[in-house]
Amino acid sequence: MITIALSKGRIFDETLPLLRAAGITVGEDPETSRKLILGTSRPDVRVIIVRATDVPTYVQYGAADLGVTGKDVLDEHGGNGLYQPLDLGIARCRMMVAAREGFDYRGAVRKGARLRVATKYVQTAREHFAAKGVHVDIIKLYGSMELAPLTGLADAIVDLVGTGNTLRANHLVAVEEITRVSARLVINQAALKLKRRSIQPLLDAFTRAAA
Ligand code: AMP
Repeated sequence: MITIALSKGRIFDETLPLLRAAGITVGEDPETSRKLILGTSRPDVRVIIVRATDVPTYVQYGAADLGVTGKDVLDEHGGNGLYQPLDLGIARCRMMVAAREGFDYRGAVRKGARLRVATKYVQTAREHFAAKGVHVDIIKLYGSMELAPLTGLADAIVDLVGTGNTLRANHLVAVEEITRVSARLVINQAALKLKRRSIQPLLDAFTRAAA
């Protein structure tokens, strides 16, 4: 049995065509089904639906053989025990620093001010500001980061930006790009060795479809 870990939403939707290219169709839609284990057109392949941030963990411990996860999630996780052979080029967005319209971010950085930064991406934010030599206090949040600068909780946020609509709707502006983000295929290193005969054709089909 090959188990593939996916998260609901963009990752699931944009992985479906890649699975199809490998001759696999998923039996049910996770948006309407409450099932967390979904069968596929291949009796030896199943999909499990997990939270986006949990995909690397399931693959790391071998509870899933492979998974699809954003580079943002992988950077936070660290990637231990994961083989990362392929940038799938899907679910693209950018990791950005954003602040309230009118906040002089560049000026604050130039003056060496200590900034308060709210984010779900603590590791990524810490590394980014350390590399720039900017002193920051990081405040960990689990969602709705956009509220932090509006309520005085933080001077800036680090968050994913797709269309930019969420920032605009909350009178925030992106002030710095940290990195471009897309979804990656991750494979459990032991599974790749033990189940190479079943996993390699999947990897090949994904590679051709993602090209
Ligand atoms: P947007 O309004 O299109 O810029 O999207 C911004 C919101 O969607 C923010 O709350 C982000 O955290 C979230 N977001 C954007 N792109 C992604 C992605 N690829 N994966 C997960 N969340 C995302």
